[in-house]
Amino acid sequence: MPASRPLRVLFLSSEVVPFAKTGGLADVSGALPKALAARNIDVRVVMPLYAGMQWNLLAPLDGIVNVPMWWGNARTAIRLGTLPGSAVPIYFLEFNRYFDRPYLYGPPGQGYPDNFERFSFLSRAALELVKAVDFLPDVIHCNDWQTALAPVYVNTVEWGKPLHACASVYTIHNLAYQGVGDPGALFITGLGREHMNSGEFEHFGAMNLTKAALRHSTMLSTVSPTYANEIQTGAYGFGLDGVLAARKADLQGILNGIDTDEWSPETDPMIPAHFSVARPAGKAACKAALQKEAGLPVDPKIPLFAVVGRLTEQKGFDVLAHALDRVLGWNVQLVLLGSGDPEAEQFFTALGAQRGDKIRAWIGFDNARAHRIEAGADFFVMPSRFEPCGLNQMYSLRYGTLPIVRATGGLVDTVANYDEATGGGTGFVFQDLTKDALANTIGWAVSTYCDRPQHIAAMRKRAMQQDFSWGRAAAAYEALYREAYQRRRGHPFASA
Ligand code: ADP
Repeated sequence: MPASRPLRVLFLSSEVVPFAKTGGLADVSGALPKALAARNIDVRVVMPLYAGMQWNLLAPLDGIVNVPMWWGNARTAIRLGTLPGSAVPIYFLEFNRYFDRPYLYGPPGQGYPDNFERFSFLSRAALELVKAVDFLPDVIHCNDWQTALAPVYVNTVEWGKPLHACASVYTIHNLAYQGVGDPGALFITGLGREHMNSGEFEHFGAMNLTKAALRHSTMLSTVSPTYANEIQTGAYGFGLDGVLAARKADLQGILNGIDTDEWSPETDPMIPAHFSVARPAGKAACKAALQKEAGLPVDPKIPLFAVVGRLTEQKGFDVLAHALDRVLGWNVQLVLLGSGDPEAEQFFTALGAQRGDKIRAWIGFDNARAHRIEAGADFFVMPSRFEPCGLNQMYSLRYGTLPIVRATGGLVDTVANYDEATGGGTGFVFQDLTKDALANTIGWAVSTYCDRPQHIAAMRKRAMQQDFSWGRAAAAYEALYREAYQRRRGHPFASA
């Protein structure tokens, strides 16, 4: 029997809050390891050191790590920090040639041309790092295509070596991004042509890093139960539905938590007034402040709708744009904060300029403003085409801002539809992604707000009481790690 000790997990991510963030992956990577550590798991995080990070606050480790790349050894310095508010170690790979750049992945709408090289490096360097610091993990937890090569390296270049014993868990945060390239690019990973086959990297003639991870990882997961089912279908699988369906028995959906310290209406330092289920009054002050900030009429009776998010096709904002033709005919207000597709940015900016009495559009990324919007709005609109989990609807629920969502992915698992007969539910859910379905549902929220305010108050209370803490998710991940360990080693992990 192995000695009794904590389970060791290497957590690999290309973005981690508060160090670097473009989306929900960073929120997960900043929060889940802390919740795992609270369960007595010895978890360590690895990410790149990007430009703009406060490297001088991070302790440099002695020596360098040699990372084998296709062109030779990348001599890499390592800096060590901790996840804020915890003792969880986070190792930063300091290799400026790849990461000292203005963007994480590339300018808006583009990827850097050497992204395969940059993220091959991330996976390979993480494995070299754990050898250098003598941390042999039981499980390597990889997240999205930027880390997809780690499970492949464990099975190939580490074959017959100590790291080969590690189980791997691969989590899909968003299947729309798969790491797809020209088949001739495989050499960049350092792996031979023999891996360009339909059981590994080859997918419809292209090189697909996610496919290789799905085939090589011990266990698979994604970030909500509904999305786990959806991605096995042609409508949501982005071409990998067959590969996922074939591993159905190894694929789990674990709903993300949220950072309930950062997103708490009772203590949030970024919002103008605090509130809670027991003391709800502060929300009205937050609404008035938001209306003022947006240059909209300050009026508690007008329902205030909000949108925060990446302006991409995924989020369904094109459908919202069409629905607004009808919605703006009503006595409503809308604030929008987002950045992304230039066309969408221009559209909402222009609409805000034309209809400044009803709409305020802020283009850009502004975390403090996102907090003020969540606190001040009455309703939060998420007409997503697909949504692996979605964080914003959970933030909204916590701030008593009722979500209006399309029935897809994590939105199904987190928002309960309003029941007009009983006043039950925590939000408003619609099925078809059409402008009419969305406008009708916004209309339903408006009429509920005006005609049945007692239902809105009860829904708010219920929404704010939902438990989206990471503790629940961490327990599920621990079970998944143990399952992966057992499959890899053929015997269960002996608990500390
Ligand atoms: P995704 O990961 O697909 O972008 P999620 O809802 O899972 O969507 O997470 C989005 C995260 O990014 C949330 O924390 C949200 O508040 C934040 N966010 C997105 N766009 C902006 C923005 N323009 N300003 C501030 N925060 C934003």
